Amino acid sequence: MTQILLIGGSDNSGGAGVSADMETVYGLGAKPTFAITAITAQSDHLFFHTHTVPSKTLKAQLQATEMNQVGAIKIGMLPNKESIGVVSEFLSEHSEIPSVLDPVFTSSSGGTLSSYEGIASLGSQLFPLINIITPNILEACRLTKLGCVQKEDLETLAHACRKMGANAVLVKGGHLPGKHCVDFLLSKDRGNCFFERKRIPGGTEVRGTGCRLASAIAYHLAMGYNIMESVDRSCRYLSSYIEERVQCT
Ligand code: PLP
Repeated sequence: MTQILLIGGSDNSGGAGVSADMETVYGLGAKPTFAITAITAQSDHLFFHTHTVPSKTLKAQLQATEMNQVGAIKIGMLPNKESIGVVSEFLSEHSEIPSVLDPVFTSSSGGTLSSYEGIASLGSQLFPLINIITPNILEACRLTKLGCVQKEDLETLAHACRKMGANAVLVKGGHLPGKHCVDFLLSKDRGNCFFERKRIPGGTEVRGTGCRLASAIAYHLAMGYNIMESVDRSCRYLSSYIEERVQCT
């Protein structure tokens, strides 16, 4: 069975982070393995504490992974420059395996997930080693120091991320107002594309959607789909997940 390596933070509430990644990978039919970068204490509404896993322990988890079984790597919370350095070294040694980075900086429960220095080093240290990055508008604006008020700005943000070294960028536009959610994909070899779908009322209340989308993309890349197909299938997977969750609440 194909394995997906999940590198990221734990969220004890089960809403986001590696547990959300694991649910996604299991749900799609692959086996998750993981390396924890930080342990967070949070509920759906409050953020209490973060413990950054020491570099030595992060490295040991990665070294213990049987990489011959791994079909793709998904990376989420990277708490600081040191963890980014460890992951960067690891990816350099496994450049044949497709990878997805969801650059998360804050939690909707109110916590900070990455240090200022960490965020500033992402472009140079990590982007060129990753197949596709999946920032939302707020994260893309923070990375590029640009603004975004309309659909067309998604393209500008994606091009700016590419200039920073990213091979492919999916800018998630769910934060823009409107009846539809629009994401923009820009990739080196496959051109660009808008993905548009009807907004699901109450969907923004569902936690861990960014984690789940990036994990689904990693899964589809591992299954041999190209970036465009992987993003398309993963967006549809996420919409069904959100619809199901909204109906449950
Ligand atoms: N907590 C952890 C550990 C995460 O990795 C993430 C996202 O990747 C979040 C929280 C943020 O999720 P949300 O915005 O749904 O709170």
